[in-house]
Amino acid sequence: MDFQKILNTIQEDLSHYDAFGNVASYIPELAKIDPKKFGMHLYGTDSQHYSVGDSDEKFSIQSISKVFTLTMAMNILGEDLWDRVDVEPSGDPFNSLTQLEYESGVPRNPFINSGALVIADILISNLDNPKEDLLQFVRKITGKESIDYDYTVAASEKSTGYRNYALVNYMKALGNIKNDVDTIVDFYFHQCSLAMSCAELATAFMIFANKGRILDTDEKILSKTKNKRINALMQTCGFYDEAGEFSFEVGLPGKSGVGGGIIAIHPSRYSVAVWSPILNEKGNSELGMAALEKLTTLTGLSIF
Ligand code: GLU
Repeated sequence: MDFQKILNTIQEDLSHYDAFGNVASYIPELAKIDPKKFGMHLYGTDSQHYSVGDSDEKFSIQSISKVFTLTMAMNILGEDLWDRVDVEPSGDPFNSLTQLEYESGVPRNPFINSGALVIADILISNLDNPKEDLLQFVRKITGKESIDYDYTVAASEKSTGYRNYALVNYMKALGNIKNDVDTIVDFYFHQCSLAMSCAELATAFMIFANKGRILDTDEKILSKTKNKRINALMQTCGFYDEAGEFSFEVGLPGKSGVGGGIIAIHPSRYSVAVWSPILNEKGNSELGMAALEKLTTLTGLSIF
């Protein structure tokens, strides 16, 4: 399979495509990103790397970080985790408050904001230095010591993150939050601010394409069962209220973020990251989704 030729074709095809949406602007720092950026990186389970465009430029991974924190929390709590957060697609926007009310403060899944905030609460309860531990975790699975938070983005989100404060306060009122509200949102804003390139994201997510193990070292990061569960959640809940559409168009488990990044994995063949900051009305990268649809069509490699 000539993956490099396929990525070149995708880049060329998309260079003629006019995206209609806008970059995320509710986090002021994200509004400053050049909307024309485009990068893509594919990492095969045969250890080969392929890339096009701005694939080495770091961007704000935002909600993609929710997969990292979920992995850490699953390794700490195991099945008990599911008493605090459910595993159903939400069908609602990622920052919705309404569903929480009639579901007694138990978030639909770990990838909507309320779910990720409960996961943050769990990590804070169980770790002495959760922010440092998250960094160490991401550095370990990428082999890149330079990966860090973007403190300007974290502060920017803090200045406008009223809905996230509301979600934590609401869940605290309903008994599903144990720690101090400010500590939880601070951790959450930092995890969302993680700055990574497509190449780094594809490397990090290779563990989910490689049965829970780092490809380079064969070190086990999570069990096969946990790996299966995380991939299942990415498939059913990874794309806000557009998970069905992503599954329909692309046919891979994955996760998007409002920074314009999308990561997807083919269990056993590859992990792939794409970055293009213009978002569609559901909050997913418009060109990112189109690029991945082309990838699975041209390679014939989706999970279906
Ligand atoms: N930090 C963003 C928020 O909480 C993450 C949103 C996203 O990427 O889905 O609004």
